[in-house]
Amino acid sequence: MTSFKAYIINKKEGNVKGSIQNLTFSDLPSSDVLIKVHYSSINYKDGMISQPDNPLVKSYPIIPGIDLAGEVVRSSDKRFNEGDPVIATSYEIGVNHFGGYSEYASLPADWVVPLPDGLTTEEAMIYGTAGFTAALSIHRLEENGLTPKHGPILVTGASGGVGSIAVSMLAKRGYTVEASTGRAENKEYLKDLGASHILSRDDVYDGRLRPLASGRWAGVVDPVGGEQLASILGQLHYEGAVAVSGLTGGAKVPTQVYPFILRGNSLIVIDSVNCPMEKRKKVWHRMANDLKIKEVFNLIKVVHTLEEVPEPLETILQGKTRGRSIVKLR
Ligand code: NDP
Repeated sequence: MTSFKAYIINKKEGNVKGSIQNLTFSDLPSSDVLIKVHYSSINYKDGMISQPDNPLVKSYPIIPGIDLAGEVVRSSDKRFNEGDPVIATSYEIGVNHFGGYSEYASLPADWVVPLPDGLTTEEAMIYGTAGFTAALSIHRLEENGLTPKHGPILVTGASGGVGSIAVSMLAKRGYTVEASTGRAENKEYLKDLGASHILSRDDVYDGRLRPLASGRWAGVVDPVGGEQLASILGQLHYEGAVAVSGLTGGAKVPTQVYPFILRGNSLIVIDSVNCPMEKRKKVWHRMANDLKIKEVFNLIKVVHTLEEVPEPLETILQGKTRGRSIVKLR
């Protein structure tokens, strides 16, 4: 019987503890598609799941890893055959269904995306949920009418996973990108990713909320949220839009109705978790084509082994990660 390694989190007396264990296929959920995992990745949500009081995990043990890419070993669903390269991100993966920090994963076929031509499994995980969220943000802003001629675009939390990838994808599409960061030491990194201007968090929000200030940006990719988002909403051009995906800066957004009704601004909310499959495939196709940031993959990625996973899970919660951490399993 095939034995393989997985990083498993267990909960005992209120504490959670992760460890590498040897499993067999019978330890996995009996879902439609068995996948040999090549790579997984580290997202903010993976960090949350590794904490004791997270509201996400309903029962333990859990194998975290909300993202995975690899090849199909066997499938009871006709859409997939042995050897097919595939990606799976979000849904309940790594939260309430065994995830990607494992050499094998068994998933419902409805959660599995064929790897688009033009991407390797490693590149798919350099993107992962963070990259998908960045691409979905840009896709939705462009559906809303945004083009490079409308003016500069702000990316917040720019050194992080969603931020780094959004900066590069927007620059590749010809946008003028202003990258906001709390870490001045990442200035050169952000310029190398394609940012035209680097702003400090204080440049974006100085602590005073003004419902309507001068318009600075035509569009914003915002994985930070919080009070800073309320400040950004007051600094959009007429008919500007913010695609908000995250809450590293807080969950409370004390905004007013004025930016919306007096300037026609839009707040576009990004959900990568339950994004419908047709749209999901369309966005992954763009990530392998017009949004592909091949030139900067090596700059963005940091590769970890399964044994090293606890450290980046901790770092991402402290807001100290730069770019994307991936986990190599093959
Ligand atoms: P990262 O930790 O990689 O990046 C977040 C960045 O935010 C940090 O690198 C930092 O960038 C900045 N930051 C950290 N703390 C603060 C703070 N207190 N105030 C302002 N900025 C801060 O995370 P990800 O990019 O993977 O995810 C970002 C957010 O998006 C998370 O909240 C995550 O849960 C959410 N998310 C949501 C998804 C969805 O479907 N809606 C999908 C994916 C992610 P810098 O130092 O450059 O300022």
